[in-house]
Amino acid sequence: MDIPRIFNITESAHRIHNPFTPEKFATLGEALRLEPGTSVLDLGSGSGEMLCTWARDYGITGTGVDRSQLFSKQAKLRAEELGVADQVQFIHDDAAGFVTEGKVGVAACVGATWIGGGIAGTIELLSESLSTDGIILIGEPYWRQLPPTEDIAKGCFANSISDYLTLPKLLATVGDLGFDVVEMVLADQDCWDRYEAAKWLTMRRWLEENPDDELTNEVREQLSSEPERYATYTREYMGWGVFALMAR
Ligand code: SAH
Repeated sequence: MDIPRIFNITESAHRIHNPFTPEKFATLGEALRLEPGTSVLDLGSGSGEMLCTWARDYGITGTGVDRSQLFSKQAKLRAEELGVADQVQFIHDDAAGFVTEGKVGVAACVGATWIGGGIAGTIELLSESLSTDGIILIGEPYWRQLPPTEDIAKGCFANSISDYLTLPKLLATVGDLGFDVVEMVLADQDCWDRYEAAKWLTMRRWLEENPDDELTNEVREQLSSEPERYATYTREYMGWGVFALMAR
C-alpha cells in the first residue's frame, strides 16, 4: 500500500507536506494551549513533523497514520532524532475509518480531508476518536481570491471553482456543521513557497540521479513548467490554513 510514487519523489525532502512552516506549527501548538500529556491523533501524518515537534515542545503524546511508506519511515526517524520515540507512534496504513481505542484530546487531519470524503466526513471520522470537549484540527485549502474563470481554477489544480470555498464561507460551513471555530493559523505566500518551491530542487537532484526512470519524463516536465504555473495560479489564488474546532 502506498500513495502515487510521484509524491514520494517530489516531496521526499519535505518535513512538512503542506504550505505550513515549522514556525506555523509552533504557533498552532501554542495557540491550542496544549497541556503536557495531551493525546493527539493525526490522520495523514506525513513525515510526522507536527506530532514530533509538539511532543518535544509541548509534551504531547500522539499517534499518526499515513499511507506513504516513505513518509511513515521518515516520521519514525524524526521521532528518534528529536528524542520523542516513546511519546509518538506512526502507523503505516490507510487512515480511512481509523478510530483510536481510547479517546484523544486533539484529533487532526491536516491537508488530507479526502481521507473522510471531504471536510464533513473527516470531522465525523475524527469525532469518533475525540473526548468530550476535545479539539478537532482540519488543515484545508481555500480561495484567497475567488478565481474569475474556471481555467484559473484548473491552473490551481482544482477541477472547478466549486472545489474550494473562500475563507469566510469555509468558516461558515464549519459553523453549519455544528462546530465553533476556536482558533486558526493561516499560511501566507512565503509558506506556500516553502511547500511548492522546495519541490523544485528535489526534482532537479532526483533527475540527475535517475536519468532512466519510468517517471523521468514526468518529473522533467513538472520541473520545467511548475515555477511559472505556481507563480501564476496557486501562489495568487490559493490560501491554506489549519482550523481548530469544538462541537457546540
Ligand atoms: N499532515 C502532513 C501530511 C499532509 S500531505 C503534514 O502536514 O506534513 C497528505 C498526507 O496524506 C500524505 O502524507 C499522504 O501520504 C497521506 N495520505 C493520503 N491518502 C491517505 C490515506 N488514505 N490514509 C492515510 N494517509 C493518506
